[in-house]
Amino acid sequence: MDVSVFHPMAPGPVVDRTAQNVERVSQDLRSVYRSGKTKSVEWRVSQLKSLLRITTHYEKDILEALRSDLNKPELEAFSHEVYGVSSSCELALKELHRWMMPEKVKTSMINFPSTGEIVSEPLGVVLVISTWNYPFKLSLDPVIGAIAAGNAVVLKPSEVAPATSSLMSNLLGEYMDPSAVKVVEGGVPETTALLEQKWDKIFYTGNGKIGRIILSAAAKHLTPVVLELGGKCPVVVDSNIDLKVAARRIIAGKWGCNNGQTCVAPDYVMTTKEFASTLIDALSSELKKFYGKDPLQSKDLSTIINSRHFDRLTKLLDDEKISGKVVIGGQRDKANLKIAPTVILDAPEDSLIINEEIFGPLLPIVTVDKIEDCIGLINSKGKPLAAYLFTNDEKLKEEFVRNVSAGGMAINETSMHIAESTLPFGGVGESGMGSYHGKFSFDTFSHKKAVLRRGFAGDADIRYPPFTPEKVKLLKAMITGDILGISRALIGL
Ligand code: NAD
Repeated sequence: MDVSVFHPMAPGPVVDRTAQNVERVSQDLRSVYRSGKTKSVEWRVSQLKSLLRITTHYEKDILEALRSDLNKPELEAFSHEVYGVSSSCELALKELHRWMMPEKVKTSMINFPSTGEIVSEPLGVVLVISTWNYPFKLSLDPVIGAIAAGNAVVLKPSEVAPATSSLMSNLLGEYMDPSAVKVVEGGVPETTALLEQKWDKIFYTGNGKIGRIILSAAAKHLTPVVLELGGKCPVVVDSNIDLKVAARRIIAGKWGCNNGQTCVAPDYVMTTKEFASTLIDALSSELKKFYGKDPLQSKDLSTIINSRHFDRLTKLLDDEKISGKVVIGGQRDKANLKIAPTVILDAPEDSLIINEEIFGPLLPIVTVDKIEDCIGLINSKGKPLAAYLFTNDEKLKEEFVRNVSAGGMAINETSMHIAESTLPFGGVGESGMGSYHGKFSFDTFSHKKAVLRRGFAGDADIRYPPFTPEKVKLLKAMITGDILGISRALIGL
């Protein structure tokens, strides 16, 4: 990409940061949206290109901000965040014309002759409220969908990842169209002020408790909402598997993604009583290969985001109900906010770790008598954002796919389904509502407008009163698509 032509938008940075600005921000955006500026394909393309250039030109600064917020290892930060955003921009740029094209649909005899189409129109002015664990990607991926669909947008990044929030605020303020793409930084007061305004969609990523606050604030204005929430993602491990591959993929999905601080990371593993110790041995041996004998020294593990979350996680670990049940890890270093990959075997049902979303490097293993019991156990809890199964048993795979309700799932893999832009990403029930990624992002920020087109020909009398018995017969046959009935009625007329 030629970055030499990458200049700030005139007239320079316009960054709104305070709660007092919020009402004005929303009013300004609404009047820009009404002007029609953001609807043009040229505007959408120019903004997507600017965002793409930001990711290319400022890659180093983005990696540095992620290092400062989460000590995110470079490769992880590049692949999950920088590349995650640039590839979404590239896809949107490549597919935009196709996504924007009206979709032709069949029409029925009742409207003959006519054509039908579904036209995607932007919703208007949308609000994206983001979280801290993938602070770059989870902020900008929805923004890409909002822009591609032709909306004006406000991004409220998470204050919990301040370096990335500030960088995005400066870069977007400097290089994107400041009249239609704005960043409001801040925490609860700023978000509360934003939520008092009327938006045409709110896209929220974070925990379910705040999700409920968002939903009730949106209800006041009848605003549609996407809630990208979390929960407890189960991994079912059968015994007839390639154990080494399974162990590596569980580790990669759990500790290799932000040290467990990932919404789709395995939250707990389920396996049979018989197989548990074999699985623990495999996890232990692969973990040693990945992160060494002292994982607290590993440069390939993210730190815990802050001391509040560190204390939350150590509370789960220090729960006396799981005392003596730690079978791998358990080491911690509060000064450096590090917790080693930790596995807990057979935590009691009423322990904190079994009941709360972990969102960190702790992994309980729950044992069952028969592997099939796992399906009922998963379905007895809130619907997870993701569910995973490792098995070679085709029947079990089919049962799992058919009977486990989850936002998404992967068989013999963890987390990687979210890397596919052809698959929707989102929750169900407790794990949220709505979805995005690829074309689903465009659709999420579009209204699907039904358009019926007719000419003036074919305006038959039978549609209009007075409704004689013959007309009623013919109309009934036409409404129900009864071809024989139509012919009979026509002959009888
Ligand atoms: P967080 O603390 O950053 O909060 C999320 C957003 O909510 C922030 O922008 C914050 O400013 C705002 N907020 C906080 N308190 C608020 C209040 N009282 N009123 C209005 N807004 C408020 O992030 P978090 O909630 O700790 O994120 C972790 C959770 O997010 C986990 O449950 C995780 O599973 C989930 N998550 C889900 C996804 C997904 O895509 N489904 C992705 C990442 C994280």
